[in-house]
Amino acid sequence: MTTFLNNYLGGEWQTAGRVVNTLLDPVTGEQLATTGGAAEGLQTGFAYARKEGAQALQAMTYGQRAAMLGEALKVMQAKRDEYYAISLANSGTTKADSGIDIDGGLFTLGFYAKLGANLGEAHTLMDGSAAVMSKDQLFQSQHIMVPIRGLALFINAFNFPSWGLWEKAAPALLSGVPVVIKPATATAWLTHRMVADVIEAGVLPKGALSIVCGSSAGLLDALTPFDVLSFTGSADTAASIRSHAAIARDSVRVNIEADSLNSTILGQDATAGSAAFDLFVDNLVRDMTIKTGQRCTAPRRALVPTHLFDAVSEAASAKLAAVRAGNPRNEETTMGALVSRTQYDSVQEGLARLKTEASVVFDGSKQTLLDADSKSACVAPTLLCIKNADQSQLVHDHEVFGPVSTLIAYRDTAHAMNIAHRGQGSLVASVYSEDAALMACAARELASSHGRVHLVSPDVAKTQTGHGNVMPASIHGGPGRAGGGEELGGLRALSFYHRRSAIQASSVVLAELSKGSTPWNS
Ligand code: NAP
Repeated sequence: MTTFLNNYLGGEWQTAGRVVNTLLDPVTGEQLATTGGAAEGLQTGFAYARKEGAQALQAMTYGQRAAMLGEALKVMQAKRDEYYAISLANSGTTKADSGIDIDGGLFTLGFYAKLGANLGEAHTLMDGSAAVMSKDQLFQSQHIMVPIRGLALFINAFNFPSWGLWEKAAPALLSGVPVVIKPATATAWLTHRMVADVIEAGVLPKGALSIVCGSSAGLLDALTPFDVLSFTGSADTAASIRSHAAIARDSVRVNIEADSLNSTILGQDATAGSAAFDLFVDNLVRDMTIKTGQRCTAPRRALVPTHLFDAVSEAASAKLAAVRAGNPRNEETTMGALVSRTQYDSVQEGLARLKTEASVVFDGSKQTLLDADSKSACVAPTLLCIKNADQSQLVHDHEVFGPVSTLIAYRDTAHAMNIAHRGQGSLVASVYSEDAALMACAARELASSHGRVHLVSPDVAKTQTGHGNVMPASIHGGPGRAGGGEELGGLRALSFYHRRSAIQASSVVLAELSKGSTPWNS
């Protein structure tokens, strides 16, 4: 019998309802779990979180909430094997790819547990120092940050059921803000299991964490002006969310992480076989195929100087030929499945579109899939190429959410920068070079349209954290097309869950206010 992923709202698990969705193994097609349709009791469940959850969380200090995150981490560390089994079955991921989601999520939770401990016994954050506003210096203005009055609703994408939850929930709970998570239906099982484990362990106060599975219907209608919404998913869903009355009329604060046409750039100083060249090729292939290309940060566009175009094509193709796509249960498989047949069809459609302006450099589909048939959601990698960047359009606009990237030739560094900007705002760009001045110049240019710029020179070859990996110490998000959001970045993440207010008063009153406060150093 399959597991029904029931909702947890108002401090209670709801009973199983009518089955509306079925979660499948993307390799075997086996039925794994089910969900219901539109959630019942959203208004009262949200009200409970805002009252009971927020009250209990905000009675604690930052240090106590950080310790609470540490307890939640311990609960889940003890259950890692079960999470790996769910990930294998429901996301079709290899062990390494499951680890990026599961251990990446737990690492981020632990990161905020440590960071929050430094905020100690405070209830309020002081933002900067007081500004004097009167001649006698007595009347002053001090900005403070307090937790928002509402709840944080997270609507997540299918590709990171663990990391996607904890990278958002850790800073929210540390801030003292109750969380309602709505995971993407296709892979909701892992999120549901983690939430159930943490709730069962009783390490969070009641109302601090709730979950809604199966349908997003009514979620936005249940938001009130002091709530916040953090969405990760496609640009189309993001557009419909932005026009909802809660956001458009009631000013619910919203953070959006959406599609991104990220670039990876080989510096013009490189030569075939140089250290920067090899690093570029190795990392391109790795970043294309990790999680079968289903990472929002994957390099969709690989920018290569014209004189190295053929050399990169050959080197990358040789490495892609060694990728073994198929059933992750087979030990020889190095790249697992897409999460569903729907995603498989979407990748095939996207590839067909890109092929109208790009040529194929490497076509892995001729290889046999390991222990998987043509009904599975397994797919091999494809590398495309465009020699005349100025006449291309789709490659800068259409994200294929799978193991697909396009080599694009560029004339000089200014041309490469121009091509990168044509993504209209991306999460990340990386540059591989041995020329420090070139990289510093590229960083200044790319920063205006990218949330993160990842520069790889040979001295950091072994220690760099990877173009596609989102580390909690750095911000994640990008302008424009990428959604305009910003998450993580150490304590910077807390500002989304706080309200900044200017307190104007006598310095005597402000001195009193500063008791139980700690400086806000993002
Ligand atoms: P999606 O179809 O937009 O779905 C995302 C979430 O929104 C799911 O939980 C979905 O629920 C929910 N949803 C769908 N329609 C909704 C509506 N009208 N109102 C409120 N919620 C709604 O995206 P996806 O296919 O899951 O994710 C893939 C996309 O996410 C890719 O394009 C990728 O680039 C992007 N992504 C971005 C980041 C980032 O950090 N920038 C990270 C990961 C993924 P159901 O599943 O129940 O439909």
